[in-house]
Formats: sequence, C-alpha cells, structure tokens
Amino acid sequence: MNNNLKCPECGCESIGRGKLRGYASLHPVGKIFSMGSEVIAYVCTNCGYIVKLQAEKPYIFKNHVMGQDILQGIGRF
Ligand SMILES: [Zn+2]
Repeated sequence: MNNNLKCPECGCESIGRGKLRGYASLHPVGKIFSMGSEVIAYVCTNCGYIVKLQAEKPYIFKNHVMGQDILQGIGRF
C-alpha cells in the first residue's frame, strides 16, 4: 500500500479512502454484461481534492488494453 500520498492542492498528507460503486463503477469498453470494477478514490481529508482513482479489479481490463482488441479481431479470421 502506498501511504506516501500527498494532496497537491493543500499539501495535506492525511488521505482517506472512499469507494465509487453502483452506477459509478468502471466497466471495460465494449463489455456490456461484465460486473465492472468498483473504483477506490483517495480523498484529501483537508480540502476534499481527489488525489488518485484506482480500479479495484484491474484484471478485468486486461483484454481491453488499447490496440490489443484489434489484434484479437484479426486472429478470428
Ligand atoms: Zn488537500
């Protein structure tokens, strides 16, 4: 865990973690029926600035790396 987060706005080092869930969950492009990933937001507890956003399940985006989907399409023919 990276505990060295610091707010670029006010310099505060007290960063809280929150979760974006439900309608705000992050889904891979073009994958309609996937579960999606909840997003962890790192929020400055002093001014409310969101220092960092991180997907909770990064592996669900593995087949959706930019450019890779085009290569997979070619492989089918
Ligand atoms: Zn701040």
